[in-house]
Amino acid sequence: MFDHSGKVALVTGASRGIGEAAVRSLTKSGASVVLAARSTTDIERIAQEICDEGGHAEAISCDVSKYDDVEAAVSLALSRLGRLDILVNNAGVIEPVSRLETSKPSDWDKVIDINVKGVYHGLRAAVEPMLKQKSGTIINISSGAATGALEGWSHYCASKAAVLSLTRCADKEWREKGIRVMGLSPGTVATEMQVQIKASGINPVSQLDPSVHIPAGWVGEAISWLATEAGDAYLGTDCSLRDEGVRKAVGLI
Ligand code: NAP
Repeated sequence: MFDHSGKVALVTGASRGIGEAAVRSLTKSGASVVLAARSTTDIERIAQEICDEGGHAEAISCDVSKYDDVEAAVSLALSRLGRLDILVNNAGVIEPVSRLETSKPSDWDKVIDINVKGVYHGLRAAVEPMLKQKSGTIINISSGAATGALEGWSHYCASKAAVLSLTRCADKEWREKGIRVMGLSPGTVATEMQVQIKASGINPVSQLDPSVHIPAGWVGEAISWLATEAGDAYLGTDCSLRDEGVRKAVGLI
């Protein structure tokens, strides 16, 4: 349990999986949170549950591939909650998994629009209020795919490599201005994305037994931990949740 009392967070892709877990960990630690995703019913339900438990959460329908939507989510944080301290650029997709020779250019566009441009949109929209505050933490959800290659995942691997590059560039530009930017590579996590990967049957990750995946709640806690000063060790790089030392520091094992 970490202390984020008085802080305001925005989490993209908050309707399920890692994003929902991040929302629940951050609100448990005292933060007020804006949930952004396309599944409006789901984010409104989760926000209501948090409010019923005494927390503070707002929901906004948001497609991260559209800059105006992301800007509106940042504006909501500022207008309703007064500031923006933590941005979790989590929204991401892997479907359709396909070998390069059968991949469709329009599918590539979609994955790049969400996984890469979505993260850029978050950085771009959040930076002004964070520069004004002279503080802020941005956590980009990365993957081992950022540096590894897997059959059928060319779109996903290329997109996560780009996200790692964005983490590095944003850190270079903003660290001295008080904005902390880092990535989190969670390992394999029991979410809808792993169900889709298993169904594809295309590479060794799809052959993993579901029991090896970590629960999304672990990733939520790691995000909450990175948002504390502990995250300073990972500025401009990816923190790996496969690392036993990180798991211990977060309090997971
Ligand atoms: P998930 O359960 O499939 O959730 C994906 C989330 O992204 C959903 O909330 C979805 O919400 C949102 N999303 C997708 N497209 C969006 C868009 N255009 N605009 C806004 N939100 C969008 O997958 P997950 O495992 O939690 O994945 C979360 C992040 O973790 C992704 O970046 C993924 O690459 C990364 N990751 C996952 C694993 C893993 O093993 N699961 C491993 C490494 C990295 P809506 O559909 O409601 O918009």
